[in-house]
Amino acid sequence: MENDRKIDRIVNLAKRRGFIFPSSEIYGGLNSIYDYGPLGVAMKNNLKKAWWDFMTSRNDVVGLDSAILMHPQIWRASGHVEGFSDPLVDCKKCKMRWRADHLLEQKGIKPDFGKNKPLDVREVKCPNCGGELTDIRQFNLMFKTFMGPLEEEANQIYLRPETAQGIYVNFLNVIDSMRMKIPFGIAQIGKAFRNEITPGNFIFRMREFEQMEMQYFVEPKTADKYYDQWKKLRMDWYLSLGIKKDHIKFRDHEKDELAHYAKKATDIEYKFEFSENETFKEMEGIHNRGDWDLSRHQEFSKQKLTIKDADNKDYIPYIVETSVGVDRSMLAFLIEAYEEVKGGRTTTTESTKESEVVLHLHHKLAPVQIAILPLSKKEELNSKSKEVYSALAGQYRLMYDETQAIGRRYRRQDEIGTPYCVTIDFDTLGDKKVTVRDRDTMKQDRVAIVELDNYFREKLN
Ligand code: ATP
Repeated sequence: MENDRKIDRIVNLAKRRGFIFPSSEIYGGLNSIYDYGPLGVAMKNNLKKAWWDFMTSRNDVVGLDSAILMHPQIWRASGHVEGFSDPLVDCKKCKMRWRADHLLEQKGIKPDFGKNKPLDVREVKCPNCGGELTDIRQFNLMFKTFMGPLEEEANQIYLRPETAQGIYVNFLNVIDSMRMKIPFGIAQIGKAFRNEITPGNFIFRMREFEQMEMQYFVEPKTADKYYDQWKKLRMDWYLSLGIKKDHIKFRDHEKDELAHYAKKATDIEYKFEFSENETFKEMEGIHNRGDWDLSRHQEFSKQKLTIKDADNKDYIPYIVETSVGVDRSMLAFLIEAYEEVKGGRTTTTESTKESEVVLHLHHKLAPVQIAILPLSKKEELNSKSKEVYSALAGQYRLMYDETQAIGRRYRRQDEIGTPYCVTIDFDTLGDKKVTVRDRDTMKQDRVAIVELDNYFREKLN
């Protein structure tokens, strides 16, 4: 327990408490694929809703849900067929497979991001066995499949490696149907697939994952302004959901590191701290993509993707993009919330207690907001507790738990991040009041049942 990494303890908690399970587990699992359990899917939906509301509550952003399977030409136009690859090296001795750029970064060597020069990986030996590494090969990350009954190249299509292209190819549909005026954005949440060479670190790098992407269409001369605005908006969003300032930062890309489509790019990095060499890592990308995407789709589709400026002249808008992984940011929120209290926070009768876990999740993200806990299973408390449950049901995310001692039940709720516990005791039958316990301060309030709704409305809004 003492020696394993914090991330390992979070993986353990996530499994034990029904957040995240390894996929296909009874068949031995499937590398880097995960399933979300009852509490995990609740938290993931809360996270997606927080992002969706943040984006689409704006007047100038609308939503979209495009298909995962798209015309294969899209991936030629986007550059993915040709260039969506990672530099792969194999160990000649133990046959382990690595990403050359990651190996170099871990050694403190800045990988040469220039597209034509090979990364100099000769300085590095296999981290597993010290063996010599092969030359670099470029490995395309897109999953391929076939559409229709014939498995031949003409029918080959791809599982989308990002959601953004679905937005670009619907750009005119959205303008025409919604009468949107520049500047405006299109937001989308959906699955993406990448055949990553070295997946890992739990849900940080998966082969099937979800993205939340927003593409903001602007006049070219205003792109820098909106790029700066979105940088600030996105950073503030994380802070508003409980990420501490010194755990999150921007990392602007240098000129030689920019992707082929990007004019400017920054990563929002979170302090994942997977190891000493892997402290801050990318959580979200914000890019000024210029007119690259729409120009390419115009060229490949032969459809005009221009709009008119104030002088009635046609132009292709620039795009400012914000792109974040649902799973990767969920992991950041879990790490941020996770606290281990050595010896426990409470002095109870249990003598075996080593440490307690409290998940200080923001109430918007917590899978359960209020736990209803009758002090005993006695019938009169049970019916009163059901009454309290019904009074709050439909407005808050609730859990009803009447098993085991109250101390244990509090700790179970602390572990899954429930901000409030409501205890119904024998005094409740007389004074019609309940005890509300705050997860973070452990302070208890005595609140009249008729006042509960108001009480929580204030706390949870
Ligand atoms: P990385 O350098 O970590 O591979 P990237 O720069 O390729 O990431 P983007 O293509 O910019 O990532 O994707 C946007 C976001 O999607 C990332 O910031 C990350 O949050 C998420 N993401 C990308 N790849 C994965 C993955 N394999 N598993 C989980 N999330 C991912």
